[in-house]
Amino acid sequence: MAKAKKYVYSFGAGKADGRADMKELLGGKGANLAEMTNLGIPVPAGFSITTEVCTAYYENKRKYPKELKGQVDAAMVKMEKVMAKSFGDPANPLLVSCRSGARASMPGMMETVLNIGLTTKTIPGMIALTKNPRFVWDAYRRLMMMYSDVVMEKAAGLEPKEGQGIRVQLEHIMDQVKRQVGAKSDTDLGTDQLETICTQFRAKVKEVIGKEFPDDAQEQLWGAVGAVFQSWNGRRAISYRRIEGIPDEWGTAVNVQAMVFGNMGDDSATGVAFTRNPATGENAFFGEWLTNAQGEDVVAGIRTPNPLNMATKSEHTAHLKSLEEVMPATYKALAAIRNRLEKHYHDMQDIEFTIEKGILWMLQTRNGKRTGTAALRMAVEMIREKLITKDMAVTRVTPAQLDELLHRILDPKAEKTAKVLAKGLPAGPGGATGRVVFTAAQAVAFAEKGEPCILVRKETNPEDVEGMRAASGILTALGGMTSHAALVARGWGKCCIVGCGALKIDAGAKTLKAGDTTFTEGDFLSLNGSKGIVYAGQLATVDPDPENPTLVEFLKACDAVRVLGVRANADSPHDAAVARKFGAEGIGLLRTEHMFYGEGADVPLFKLRKMILSNTVEERRKACDELYPHVKDDIKGTLAAMDGLPVTIRLLDPPLHEFVPQGEAKQQELANALGITLQDVRKRAEDLHESNPMMGHRGVRLGVTYPEVSEMQIRAILESAAELRAEGKKACPEIMIPVTCSVNELKDQQALIVKVKAEVLKKYNLKKLDFLVGTMIEIPRAALLANQMAEVAEFFSFGTNDLTQMTFGFSRDDIGTFMPDYLGKKILAVDPFQSLDQEAVGELIKTGIQRGRSVREKLKVGICGEHGGDPASIHFCHKAGMNYVSCSAFRVPIARLAAAQVAVATAGKPAKKGKK
Ligand code: PEP
Ligand code: MG
Repeated sequence: MAKAKKYVYSFGAGKADGRADMKELLGGKGANLAEMTNLGIPVPAGFSITTEVCTAYYENKRKYPKELKGQVDAAMVKMEKVMAKSFGDPANPLLVSCRSGARASMPGMMETVLNIGLTTKTIPGMIALTKNPRFVWDAYRRLMMMYSDVVMEKAAGLEPKEGQGIRVQLEHIMDQVKRQVGAKSDTDLGTDQLETICTQFRAKVKEVIGKEFPDDAQEQLWGAVGAVFQSWNGRRAISYRRIEGIPDEWGTAVNVQAMVFGNMGDDSATGVAFTRNPATGENAFFGEWLTNAQGEDVVAGIRTPNPLNMATKSEHTAHLKSLEEVMPATYKALAAIRNRLEKHYHDMQDIEFTIEKGILWMLQTRNGKRTGTAALRMAVEMIREKLITKDMAVTRVTPAQLDELLHRILDPKAEKTAKVLAKGLPAGPGGATGRVVFTAAQAVAFAEKGEPCILVRKETNPEDVEGMRAASGILTALGGMTSHAALVARGWGKCCIVGCGALKIDAGAKTLKAGDTTFTEGDFLSLNGSKGIVYAGQLATVDPDPENPTLVEFLKACDAVRVLGVRANADSPHDAAVARKFGAEGIGLLRTEHMFYGEGADVPLFKLRKMILSNTVEERRKACDELYPHVKDDIKGTLAAMDGLPVTIRLLDPPLHEFVPQGEAKQQELANALGITLQDVRKRAEDLHESNPMMGHRGVRLGVTYPEVSEMQIRAILESAAELRAEGKKACPEIMIPVTCSVNELKDQQALIVKVKAEVLKKYNLKKLDFLVGTMIEIPRAALLANQMAEVAEFFSFGTNDLTQMTFGFSRDDIGTFMPDYLGKKILAVDPFQSLDQEAVGELIKTGIQRGRSVREKLKVGICGEHGGDPASIHFCHKAGMNYVSCSAFRVPIARLAAAQVAVATAGKPAKKGKK
């Protein structure tokens, strides 16, 4: 006969059936109780009923597998032996607790019943055993309150009206007795009063629920087990699972364990502790405890708990006695367990303990939750202590925690109580607070006065750039994650929220409305750009430490682990220096057009406009010649700043109309400067107008129709490299051709490159000049014909902003109008401009890489769309076999971490190809 399935796992007296790695079956709590028992740590004996029983219970019309009863009985006998007491025995009664325990921690979402086994028959025995009648009646009233609420009401599906639940009614009885006898708190109640309360409770339960309170230990036990399983499908637990993404099928285990009591007098106590400080990460045993109390008293904050030891007393707790002082021997034993657990679990533990009549018992251990600062410090210090390897350390800090440490943020304490005004897309990280302004000029004026401001716009365009730079934060009603405002803000590491559709902005009237509230210029707003939350008022902020040595050390560990290279998108010598400071290993995208925006761009922009307004090829060539020194200075400066690291320089991409001024005054100014008429400027602007510029005359199409413009840029790149070489410096340029869809476009531009190269070699008297020629892959056709593209291209860089736009057919600049509904209705799980759509865009990328490398085995492949800084997308890039990701400089540390984490997660499963 096949052996019956094992549904019950015992633990106690140094031996357990389970282990820490059996969380799926025993839940987190059960698995760790078993592990601690096996380690010889004192744990009250007990048993875990597996999560499989929970699943079977729900699949089988709420019936248990038939073998369960026998297995529970046998486990109970074992437990009785270890504890030298018997469950339900009037003379020597054992009391047990019954607690839930899922695979993932679901704090407070499911039920617990304590003191099970107290009945009219066992109460006298308990009193004789403890010689403490007050304690026993108090334990009985606690059992009645918990059990009638959890088992008799909630699990039975009763739904009393608000305030009519059995627990509330029992609390009224207790309050009444307290009033009658003048007792201030529960602890002032005497034995007789508690006994009276229990009698009244019994009658009330019968009256309200219509059933006697069970007076049989076995009935209590099975009632409690059933209630814990039922609570897996309670409303609280279901909503928590939805939020945390915990699957319904996991089920919970049930842990039945011998009760130990911290409330048996002054030689008893209970406490919770962390093996290191969870707020700062300091390697100091940190916790709280209370004498003569039950665990819930510490957690519920009914009494102010005492500090665990002398070293961690604060100014608020200095006058309170620590466990170290009051029970030095027990504290020593607890501290030894702390060391043991950390060594064993290789991580900071969150523990619960109880001291019953001077004897220490451990009730729980689990990996403790921690702040970003603490996570970082612990990871680094544990490497130094040789407690963990670098591979383990990089998994201990989440990208969101790292983000917390890199930017000024709103003070989390202030955020808790602040009024949320609206929500938008988290386009630029960190926090900002300042006065509302509605135009770029106002932002500059405020900044000059030293007054932080938030630039509020319906959407931004390149003409707003100086104001965006000057503002502390940027807020727009329209736009998506790859819209102009988002892109520019991220590049500067500036706090920015876009697509905040709930805002009604009237720049003319200088008002901003959100619901019923209206803001005018000068009112205060605060932004959480990492989460996309807008608050009314001026919230406090917290600054990062730019030189944080712990962060530097941690990121070095990430670098040692990762395979994927990390570059930055940077557009100037200054950006390049910032990128290197953050650890970028090259520039993956230099958008040449950015030299025409913002501070100091007046002269090159004027010359570019002159070029755009040229009527003939000759005129354009002349304008190009004038523009040339500016372009070359910028490129040469950036190549020099990167000191031999690769720099991918993209030829001009945006449609030219973006550079022509729109307002009449500015058009007139330009006409005057060029010595032409306003009509000429206007006509040219009209000629350049496109109904769909994102799919218009941009990218390589500009290079095809205006080869002299490409030629000028190619020359600037190659002459920069040649001059740097002559100066004894290193330069590693990569010429990148954007928005291509056919290899013939590449051949067309390649011919120009060959011609210019020959001229440069001659001019500088060189035999060779090292550089690469590649293309962006940002049109589906190019991805599908990657084998053809790779005949010319020596590298691919996936421009996933445009590739996403063209694959979905969503305009990247105005998805704000419908994306919230798409996400709200779950049509899409995430905004594909924030996190790469792995299903379709990802398929194009994989196809592109595979086809590209089928003709050019060593083809270098990277990504330079905004997804290059998104952890989930970085994981995809690693698995797809890319060589590098490129993202804004401020996201480089996060990319280094994400790349290390995916390397660890896929260890043993090497990425297809691709090395830094
Ligand atoms: C892209 O399309 O992903 C890209 C990087 O180019 P841009 O955002 O400048 O269009
Ligand atoms: Mg693009």
